[in-house]
This record gives sequence, structure tokens and C-alpha cells, in this order.
Amino acid sequence: MTHVFGVIGNPISHSLSPLMHEAAYKKLELDARYVPFQVEEKNLETAVKGMKGLGIKGLNVTIPHKEAVIEFLDELDPSAAALGAVNTIFYDEKQNKLIGYNTDGEGFYRSLRPELRKPLEDSLILMIGAGGAARGVAITLAGKGAKQLTIANRTKSKAEELAADCGASARAMTLNEAQAKLTEFDIIINSTSIGMTPNIGQMPMSLETLSRDTLVCDLIYSPMKTRFLAEAEKKHVRTLNGMGMFVQQGAIAFEHWTGLDAPVEIMEEAILSRLKEV
Ligand code: NAP
Repeated sequence: MTHVFGVIGNPISHSLSPLMHEAAYKKLELDARYVPFQVEEKNLETAVKGMKGLGIKGLNVTIPHKEAVIEFLDELDPSAAALGAVNTIFYDEKQNKLIGYNTDGEGFYRSLRPELRKPLEDSLILMIGAGGAARGVAITLAGKGAKQLTIANRTKSKAEELAADCGASARAMTLNEAQAKLTEFDIIINSTSIGMTPNIGQMPMSLETLSRDTLVCDLIYSPMKTRFLAEAEKKHVRTLNGMGMFVQQGAIAFEHWTGLDAPVEIMEEAILSRLKEV
């Protein structure tokens, strides 16, 4: 029997998830398909509950359904409960339960880990932005013991809310306040949409005063090298783009659904080949 997985969102045609998951099924010779489903808000409940009737074992969830989907699930994994957002649903047939996970923060952490020069417990981190993606990453990094997390956002009240949810190691700032302290950070993460295609000339803040040992990250993967990362490279610092996070969040979902190790390199190659075409 062919197993069906997929992603629900609106719009959905731009999603790279089908390409990535189907490359994994092909590599492991799994009889499975991954389908993009365009689901309008008014149909969200029937779409999600339909997983049980149709025996769909797994769905990813993307904008605008990540929060709204929660009320239609039977259980939330702590990863999703902490964030109030779900990006992965697993249908546990034995228990007849739909379980919501959030794999974004852990996905970022898996991509960050090989780049760390010192433990998170000793790292001062600047998160620029306080939207959905920032939330997943900030709460995960705080949970893993980051020494200090500074959240800077255009709308400071949102940074304050997120900092409060991250716990005692987190504080909020305006973008200008963070800019003035740029030299202090070991890791700087852009989690805003500034610099994303088609606005590729923009940057969330200047990197003029960057220190040499800082790791500069951008959650954006289209383009793969944002202006923010290009400017960081000019300062000869290490950089990390958002592709690893995207691949790893998909790999964690794959592992929940199939119980198998995800062929991460194959998934990454599939995404890289598509992004190079753009
Ligand atoms: P979101 O919830 O809409 O948040 C957007 C953030 O960007 C907010 O903090 C917003 O500040 C800030 N922002 C937007 N325009 C701005 C501007 N002109 N000046 C200053 N700040 C601005 O979006 P999201 O879902 O978090 O996504 C953010 C980025 O992360 C996107 O580029 C997305 O592609 C990327 N992402 C990557 C992955 C991955 O797997 N690599 C996963 C998820 C998201 P305000 O609060 O002041 O509006």
C-alpha cells in the first residue's frame, strides 16, 4: 500500500517540501508519496480530521495554519506546546490520535550544532526578529541552556513577550539598542523576512562593528546568501544560512512518521539543486 504524506497551507504551490521528502522516499525505496494540499481556513478541520479516515500518517503544516490547527489535534508534543504552533502532525494509528509537533527550533539547532565553537551555555546570542520562526528558535535555544539570549525587534513589545516566554536568560531590545552592542555577541541570527527574495538588497541591521569570532546566521534560504550573510563574509566571519534548518526540520518530521533515519544529505541535495535553479 502506498503511504501518503503531505503539507497543508495556503498558498502551497511554492513549497519545497515535496521535492525533499520524495527524494528521501526514492533513496530508501519507500512506497510513499508526499502531496502539497492547498487548504482554506474554513476547511482546516475537515482536512486535518480526514487524516484518520484516509490513513494519512503525517502532514506538515505551514502558513497560515500553524496555530489554528492545534484545536483539531488530540495531543501536543512539548515541542509544540511550548511554542503554541505546530508544523508537523503525526497520526498514531494504534492510539487513533493526531499528535502535533514543532520541529523548526530543533531543526535550527541541528544545523547550528556543527558550527558551534563553544558550548551554548557559554554563548551570548542575538536574535533579530520576534515572529513565528524566531519563537521556535529562541525557545529551543533557551531550553538548551544558552547563556544569554537578546531578542531585538522592530516592535519591541513582541520582543518583550518572546523574551518573557524564553525565561530568565532572555532580554528584549530595540533594533538600535542591539546594533550598539553588536560586538558583544557570539552568535547573531536574523529571523526577520528582511533580505528574502525579492527584497534581496535589504538588511535587518548594519554589521559594520561585527567582531571576528561571531557566527552570523540567517533563517532565510532564498536567496541562499542574503545580503546580511554576504556583508558578514566580507568581515571574514563564519556564516550559516537557513537551508540546514529547513532540511533538518523535514528530517525530524520524516523520522517521526517513518521511524527511520532520514537520508539528510539526499534531502539537502534535492533542495540545493532546486535553489540553484532560482
Ligand atoms: P513573521 O512571523 O511574519 O515575522 C516577521 C519578523 O520580521 C517580525 O519580527 C517582524 O517585525 C520582522 N520584520 C518584517 N519586516 C520588517 C521590516 N521591514 N523591518 C523590521 N522588521 C521587520 O515571519 P516568520 O514566519 O517568523 O518568518 C521570518 C523569516 O524566517 C522568513 O524569511 C522565513 O522565510 C524564514 N523562515 C525560515 C525557515 C527555515 O526552515 N529556514 C522556517 C521558518 C521561517 P515586527 O514584529 O515588528 O513586525
